Amino acid sequence: MNTSQRLTLNELTLSHDYGTLPEHFYHRTEPMPLPDPKIISINPLAAELLQLNPCSLDPEHLASLMGGHQLLPGSSPLAMKYAGHQFGMYNPQLGDGRGLLLGEQAIDGQLWDWHLKGAGLTRYSRSGDGRAVLRSSIREYLVGEALTALNIPSTRALAVCITGQKIQREMVENAATIIRVTPCHIRFGHFEHFYYTRQQDALQQLVDYCIQRYFPECQESEQPCLAMFDRVVELNASMVAGWQAYGFLHGVMNTDNMSLIGETFDHGPFAFIDRWKEDAVYNHTDETGRYAFDQQPDIIHWNLSALAQALTPLEPVDDLKKVLARFPRRFKAAWLTRMRQRLGLFTEQPDDESFIKEWRSLLAQYEMDFNPLYRALSLAQSESDQPDSGLDETELLLWRTELENWLPKYQQRLALETCPAQQRRDAMLAVNPVYTLRTHVAQHIIRAAEQGDYEPLNRWLHVVQHPYQEHAGLESWKRAPQDGGFVMLSCSS
Ligand code: AMP
Ligand code: MG
Repeated sequence: MNTSQRLTLNELTLSHDYGTLPEHFYHRTEPMPLPDPKIISINPLAAELLQLNPCSLDPEHLASLMGGHQLLPGSSPLAMKYAGHQFGMYNPQLGDGRGLLLGEQAIDGQLWDWHLKGAGLTRYSRSGDGRAVLRSSIREYLVGEALTALNIPSTRALAVCITGQKIQREMVENAATIIRVTPCHIRFGHFEHFYYTRQQDALQQLVDYCIQRYFPECQESEQPCLAMFDRVVELNASMVAGWQAYGFLHGVMNTDNMSLIGETFDHGPFAFIDRWKEDAVYNHTDETGRYAFDQQPDIIHWNLSALAQALTPLEPVDDLKKVLARFPRRFKAAWLTRMRQRLGLFTEQPDDESFIKEWRSLLAQYEMDFNPLYRALSLAQSESDQPDSGLDETELLLWRTELENWLPKYQQRLALETCPAQQRRDAMLAVNPVYTLRTHVAQHIIRAAEQGDYEPLNRWLHVVQHPYQEHAGLESWKRAPQDGGFVMLSCSS
């Protein structure tokens, strides 16, 4: 679609497909207006995804929507009802407490949800204020792009809007909103709600809705619900494989934060690990390390078992168990694929798993700043078959002693590859980023934004969307900070 064919906000009409489900699936309510809304960043790639022309997006109009003063034609906002397991404990009382589904936009045969996060109180707000602070809105906005650029499925956001509303967290902060865009706001917790309240008809209706909207191919199956569950297992295995390969830590993997279509969802105290640490925990409320980095695949498996449990009224338990049991194998296959890509291995060799695990142990043993190291390995690919070729790369020099035994093994492994080194180098440079959204980078951007300077935010939006190239003037942000970069993050947002 060329620019002239793209829509302006005025031309956009939302449908409400989820809103055709029965009333007890949600609660209709309108956003609560916020004072002085102001757009501080528009995401041109998300705009394009929504067939909007980023250049003709009227910031005043968008601010009016994001500040809750106006609705798009066709919009009929609603708060979804769901439940979920939080830190392993079932909580029936969840739902959209501060976000509203504004409606859906039909794009090339697929519906995309427009969700206003920070929209105000709903029936499900419990003791919350229905709002989101600027820092968490900026983090969610940027990380959606950072993950997407790493080819890890994630929800995205169209824009960030700051407002004049003051809200209390650890201190008084400005309320902000984002428009989250994704085809799916259905969480594992949606199914759990109907299961634990014994509403089997509603559960069946929800499953039918999801199959028809997200997994139409499953309609052909003799057991469509089981076929859908199988797809959900696969998609989530693939998502968490991406997290593990790039050192991404979600932070709050409660089942209400798990998307049915395997997108990274409801980003809270997430982090990209700076220096490799298998048991890293950044969320300071996660006292037992339930959601530690190395636990993530098992936790996804556990969350999938919670979803399977919720589907037991519709499918035989043994069948669900069989599908669930496919998770470890699928995760491992997806993870190996990712790791091979990062190391430039195109063929599959029998010892790959132990070779890759040895590499990861090495990263952990010396708590290496691994991203620059992958980058250096990529740049070091050359036709020379010398075991230490490319050792003049800074990062490799830095870790020369620690890598002494491993590099020759890597060279031996590369010798089994048939693809020319130049091609390998190009492929590796396309999957090993120069920049990641490190915590201290996000904090730098947030500090500036809190003082009214949105230039770093908009600069870094572009950087995280294009992380495989150098960006002038940002060289010092490529590496972990001198102090190691370990910052505990608050769940409050
Ligand atoms: P989260 O920890 O963000 O995944 O949210 C867990 C639950 O708390 C969900 O039902 C949210 O809608 C709700 N919630 C989180 N923050 C707020 C808030 N500030 N106001 C109202 N509800 C909230
Ligand atoms: Mg949540």
